[in-house]
Amino acid sequence: KLYNQVQDLKGNIRVYCRVRPFLPGQSSNMNTIGRIDDGSITIITPLKYGKEGRKSFTFNKVFGPSASQEAVFSDTQPLIRSVLDGYNVCIFAYGQTGSGKTHTMSGPKELNEQTVGVNYRALNDLFHLSEERMDTIRYEIAVQMIEIYNEQVRDLLATDGVNKRLEIRNSSLNGVNVPDANLVPVTSTSEVLDLMNLGQRNRVVSATALNDRSSRSHSCLTIHIQGRDMTSGNILRGCMHLVDLAGSERVDKSEVKGDRLKEAQHINKSLSALGDVIASLAQKNSHVPYRNSKLTQLLQDSLGGQAKTLMFVHISPEADATGETLSTLKFAERVA
Ligand code: ADP
Ligand code: MG
Repeated sequence: KLYNQVQDLKGNIRVYCRVRPFLPGQSSNMNTIGRIDDGSITIITPLKYGKEGRKSFTFNKVFGPSASQEAVFSDTQPLIRSVLDGYNVCIFAYGQTGSGKTHTMSGPKELNEQTVGVNYRALNDLFHLSEERMDTIRYEIAVQMIEIYNEQVRDLLATDGVNKRLEIRNSSLNGVNVPDANLVPVTSTSEVLDLMNLGQRNRVVSATALNDRSSRSHSCLTIHIQGRDMTSGNILRGCMHLVDLAGSERVDKSEVKGDRLKEAQHINKSLSALGDVIASLAQKNSHVPYRNSKLTQLLQDSLGGQAKTLMFVHISPEADATGETLSTLKFAERVA
C-alpha cells in the first residue's frame, strides 16, 4: 500500500530499463548483467566499482535482452490515449552509444511488423484510436522533427537545407513551440515513416571511437494533435515528443579535442539538465530548472504539470561497459 502511495506521489514519470542482447560476434562470457526481475536488475561489478561486486536497481519495469519490440511497447498505450485526450507526453530513449536507443525508438535496419519501434507503434495507435473516435471528435495530426546539436535547434524536415538555427518560443496561445520548423500534416503511419527517414538522413552524425555513426545530437519527433469535439465544437490540443537522446557516455577529455570536446560538453550539459528537471519534478520541488538547456526549454510544457513522461533507459550487457552501465542506472534511479 505504501508502495502505491509512493507511486502516486511520483505520478507522471515512469522509467523502464532495457538491456540490449549481445550482438553477433560478441562473447556472452563477459556479461555484466546479473539477475533481472520484473522491476529490478542486478549488475555484477568488478572490484574497482565497489566492494560488494553486485549492485541492484529498481525501476517501473526491466526488459531483458530477449524482450520483443511489442513487449517493450505494450505498456505505452495509455500514454497514446492521453495525447488524444489533450495531454502532452514525452518518451525518451537514454543510454550510451550502442546500447539500443535507436533500436527501441525506430527499430533495426531491417524493418518489418515485428521489428518496428516505439515511434511507429505510437503513431499507428494514434491513427487507429483517432479513427475510432471519428464520430465524436475530428482529429488533425501534424509532425515536426528537430535536432538539438551543440545547443542549437535545427529543422530535420527542412526542405531548403537544414542549417538554419531555430528559436524556441513560448506563447500563451500555443505553449512552447518552434514556429519556424516545418510542420507537416499527416494522415497515415506510412507518411510519417517517410518523413522520419528524411529526418534521419538530415541528422548530424560523426565518427567516434565507439560507433562510426554515433549520433551526437538529440533528435525529437513531435506529433501535434488537434481535435474538434463534434457536438460542443470545443478544440483540444495534445502533443507527443519522441526523443532519441545523444549518447550519454562520458568522454575522456584527454582523448578528444576541438569539435569533439565541444560536442561532449554540450551533450553532458543537456543530459544533466534533463536529469535535474525530471528529478525535481519527481521530488515535487517548487522550482524546476527548465532554462538550463535547449532540450528542457523545448520540452518545458511537456514535462511536469499534467504531462506524462516515459524514459527508456538502455544498457549494454558487456563487462567492459560496466562503468557506463552503472552511471546510466544511477542517472535513471535519480529520475525514477
Ligand atoms: P544507439 O542508438 O543507442 O547508439 P542502436 O539502437 O544503434 O544503439 O543499437 C546498436 C546495435 O545493437 C544495432 O545494431 C541494433 O540493431 C542492435 N540492437 C540494439 N538493441 C537491440 C535489441 N533489443 N535486440 C537486437 N538488437 C539490438
Ligand atoms: Mg542511435
